[in-house]
Parts: sequence; C-alpha cells; structure tokens
Amino acid sequence: MAKSQPKCLRNLKSYNLKRFSMPRSIAREQDILSRPAPKRPPRLTSRRIGIHTSTAGGVQNGAERAYRLGCNTFQIFSSSPRRWAAYELSQVQCAEMKRLRAQYDLKPLVIHANYLVNLASSSETFLHQSMRAFRGEVERSLALGADYLVLHPGSFRGADREQGLLRTAAAIAASVDGLKLEQGGLTILIENTAGSEFSLGGSFEQVAEVLERLRGIVPVGACIDTCHTHVAGYDIVSAEGLHATLQQLDRTIGLNNVKVWHCNDAKSGRGSKLDRHQHIGKGTIGKETFRILLNDPRLAHAGFVAETPIDNPGDDRRNVAALKALVQP
Ligand SMILES: [Zn+2]
Ligand SMILES: [Zn+2]
Repeated sequence: MAKSQPKCLRNLKSYNLKRFSMPRSIAREQDILSRPAPKRPPRLTSRRIGIHTSTAGGVQNGAERAYRLGCNTFQIFSSSPRRWAAYELSQVQCAEMKRLRAQYDLKPLVIHANYLVNLASSSETFLHQSMRAFRGEVERSLALGADYLVLHPGSFRGADREQGLLRTAAAIAASVDGLKLEQGGLTILIENTAGSEFSLGGSFEQVAEVLERLRGIVPVGACIDTCHTHVAGYDIVSAEGLHATLQQLDRTIGLNNVKVWHCNDAKSGRGSKLDRHQHIGKGTIGKETFRILLNDPRLAHAGFVAETPIDNPGDDRRNVAALKALVQP
C-alpha cells in the first residue's frame, strides 16, 4: 500500500512481522473461527454493541469473529499493539474487511492505536517515533475504511501537564498532515485514562482541552472508558453519581462528541488509578451502570465496545451477551 510520510520521518523503515502479541490472550479463548459458522444471524439490539476482537490470521478475520460473537460493531488493533514495527496491510485484506462489514452491517469499525505511541513525549526522538507510528495508524485506518481511531493522550513525564496536553494536540495535527481524514470518514477519538502518575486524560477537562485545540484542524471526538472513569475517581456506580458524572461529561466534552464507550467493569476500586478491566457485571462497577448507559437516549448514537479479559473460553461471547441483555427493547 502506498505510504506518504512527512519529510523528517521518511528514512524510517517499516518491517513485516509475523507474530502478533495480544494483550487479551486469544490463546485462552476458543477461536470462534474454528467452530462451525452460525446458521442464523445473531439477535441484535437497538444499540451498537461489540468487543475488541483478535485479528489473528489477518486483519479481516476481526470482522468475521465479531459477527460470530454476536456483535454489530467491533474494535481491533491494525498492527501489533506493543511493537513499533507495523504490518503492511494488503489491498486484498482491506477489500475483504469492507466486504465483510457491509455483509454483516458491522459499524462503526474502531481501531485502537498502538500502546507505545506517546504524542506528549518530551524526548524528541521518542516523539518522532510516536508521530511516525501514529501516522501509520491513521494510514492503516483509512485503508481499512475505519470510522474511528482511538488514541490515549499520552504521558507528560519530564514536562508539566499543560505542556503535555499542548504537545499532544500539536503532534496529532502534525502527524496527520496531508492525510485525508475527512474524505475517508475517519475521526480520531481521544480516550480518557485512569490518570495515574504522568498520564494525561485522567479528567474529562483534559480530554476536552485536546479536542478543543484540534477542532477545525482534524476530525476529533472522545472515547470514554468506564473502567478508566471509575478508577480515575468519578462516581459512576450510584445512580445520582452516574447522573452527575454524565452531566459533567456533557459540560466538558459534550455527550454528542463521545462516539465510543469502552464498556469495561473494573477489578480495582473507585479512585484507585489502577487500570484493570473485569467482566461485565463482575467487578466494582456492576451491571446497573451499563444498563443506564446503554439505555440513555442521549448516548444512542455511540458504539459500545467491551475490552474485557479472557480468563476462560467463551468469555468474549458472554461479555457481548451480557451487554446486549441490558438493552431494553
Ligand atoms: Zn485504550
Ligand atoms: Zn479503553
């Protein structure tokens, strides 16, 4: 696939890697592709519900797996999430992805950026490496016809938070220079984080600041992760707390700008800043929060995507089913 790179980044090579390290161990999940194909389409709800799916065997397999897991939206990595060197996607793979998505009505397609990317880095070398990798993420997202690319706002270690937020916004704009996001229907989503130590995005205000700086320059929106929100200290467990948190989210980022909800229960307590995801309804957040979010008409436009762990075979199917069961008909 033809690549365009900014001048300063042009000399860097990309490699083809065969191995793919998954943070959510697919080894423990029975691969749904090895089972017989379902005879009937899955029962769907009025909401777009999905899960982060493995792309083992080729990026397009993510779509087939999502469909078989009962999803009508899904998230993938377009390359190894913890390596710098990126895969090259073939045109055949991208076309197959588009064909499967159209056949199964899977939308939106959400791509999660590489975890190594830090666009707030105060090291010039690291920043350039991150920008090159992020540009690759955007190019692959465009090639795949993805709707959203989710990015963590980064770490401000070595600087202060305000400088970090500025640098992230500037680096996002510079990285995508010349790429046609709008024409490609691609929006970059800034994800809120657990807010530990130097990580940016632990409050809605910080996410909103990055969005405001980019508005009119790059298509942007937000991805709100329930686990991150909870461990960052927001009350999303009590009904009044969740109501107030949603109001705060609306005042800062705007509920309309939240295009994707990462639906994860949490292993650690509210305010712990420990980002450990748990199965839906089995953690410190509990089912009720997801029921309220999934049925709030102000959030009906969003995709709801789980990033839950795989501890036992069948966990992905159970977590998708758990979310779908909460949607009122
Ligand atoms: Zn994330
Ligand atoms: Zn997330």
